[in-house]
Amino acid sequence: MLVLNSGSSSVKYQLLDMADGRRLAGGLAERIGESGGGGRIVHTSGDGGRRERTLPFPDHAAALGAVGEELRADGLGLDSPGLAAVGHRVVHGGTRFTEPTLVTDEVLEEVRALTPLAPLHNPANVTGIETARALRPDLPQVAVFDTAFHATLPEAAARYAVDRAVADRFSVRRYGFHGTSHQYVSRAAAGLLGREPSEVNVIVLHLGNGASASAVAGGVCVETSMGMTPLEGLVMGTRSGDLDPAVVFHLSRVGGLTMDEVDDLLNRRSGLVGLCGDNDMREIVRRREEGDREAAVAFDVYVHRLRKYIGAYTAVLGRVDALVFTAGVGENSAPVRAAATAGLEGLGITVDPELNAGRGGGARLVSPPGARVPVAVVPTDEEFEIARQAFALVGRSPR
Ligand code: AMP
Repeated sequence: MLVLNSGSSSVKYQLLDMADGRRLAGGLAERIGESGGGGRIVHTSGDGGRRERTLPFPDHAAALGAVGEELRADGLGLDSPGLAAVGHRVVHGGTRFTEPTLVTDEVLEEVRALTPLAPLHNPANVTGIETARALRPDLPQVAVFDTAFHATLPEAAARYAVDRAVADRFSVRRYGFHGTSHQYVSRAAAGLLGREPSEVNVIVLHLGNGASASAVAGGVCVETSMGMTPLEGLVMGTRSGDLDPAVVFHLSRVGGLTMDEVDDLLNRRSGLVGLCGDNDMREIVRRREEGDREAAVAFDVYVHRLRKYIGAYTAVLGRVDALVFTAGVGENSAPVRAAATAGLEGLGITVDPELNAGRGGGARLVSPPGARVPVAVVPTDEEFEIARQAFALVGRSPR
C-alpha cells in the first residue's frame, strides 16, 4: 500500500507491506510550485538509508514522479505488481464521508465541493488523488478522511447552540479532525491493556503541532475538541484553540482587522507561538526552566486547557479506562504529561515520575502499577491507519 498525504506544497508518502505492517520506504517531497524551481525530496529506504535531492517541482505530478523514481531505486516502483492500492489522507469529509471511500469521479467532485469547509486542505488532497490516478489509472485509490472517526459524535456533542436553520444551511457543526490518529491510538491503547477496543473507555490527547482530545467509548468516538475547523479546542503550536467568538467581533470593530487578518492571527500567530514566540515544546520547557516568564505562562495556559479537557471528558465518559498521550509533545514531553496529570488523584489519574521520565520507542504505561486509570504513551501512526483502512476496503488481491 502506498499512502499519500498531499498538502498544497508538499507530499508525504509511505510504502507499507500489509503482510506484516513493515515500512518499506517513505519520505517527503516539498516546495511544490515554488518559483525558482527549488523542489526537494527526502527519501528514507526500508533499511534506514536516506537520500536527498533538489530538483524543480512545478506541480504535484512532478513531485509524484520523483517519488516514483526514488521508490524504483529501491526496487519498489509505482509500476510494481505488488502495489495493491493508494490510500490518500483527505482532511474534510463533511457529513457525506464517514468511511474509507473508493475514489470515483463523483467522489472527487464531492470532496471538491467540501472545499469551503477546508479551503487549504481539500483542494490539495484532490490534486494528490488526481495525480496518483493519472499515474496508475488501473489502481484503486482510497480516500481516508480525517473527520470520519468523529462521525459517531452524538448530536449533543456535534451541534453548536446556534440557530438551527442557519447552522444547517451553512453546514455549521462540529466535525473533529485527527480522526485516523485517535482511532489508531485508542485501539492500540486497548491492546496495551490486553482488552478489546469495544470494552474500554479512553481519553486520547493528540498533542502535536496541531492538538486535539477525544473521548472514545467502547471504540466509538463520542466527543472531540476540534470543531467545524481544526481551530477549536486545545492550545496548539500556532492556533488559539477555544476562545470567546466575540473576540473576533471586537478585533474587527475595535481593532480594525479584516476577516483574513483575524483568520491569520488565530490560525498562524496564536497558540504557543503567540504566547511566547516559540511553538516547539522542547524550547518552551528549556526557557521556562531558565526562568523565562513568557515561556512559563505559555506552558501554564497550554497545560491548564489540557486539564480542563481531561476533567470534561472524564464526565462525558463516566468511567475512564485509560488516559493516552500521543504525537510529538504527547509522546516526548514528560514535563507536559506530569503537569497535565498533577493533582488529578481524585479522578484516579496519576503518573509514576520514573516511568514518565523514561524513554522508550513503543506503547507503554507511565502510571504506577494498579493505578485506577492507567496513563499511557502510545506513538501514533496515521499512515499505517490509513493503509490499514484502505487495504481493508480493497482486499488483498494485488493488481
Ligand atoms: P507532530 O505534529 O506530532 O509532529 O509534533 C510536533 C511537535 O512535537 C513539535 O512542534 C514539538 O513541539 C514537539 N516535540 C517533538 N519532540 C519533542 C520533545 N522531545 N519534547 C517536547 N516536544 C517535542
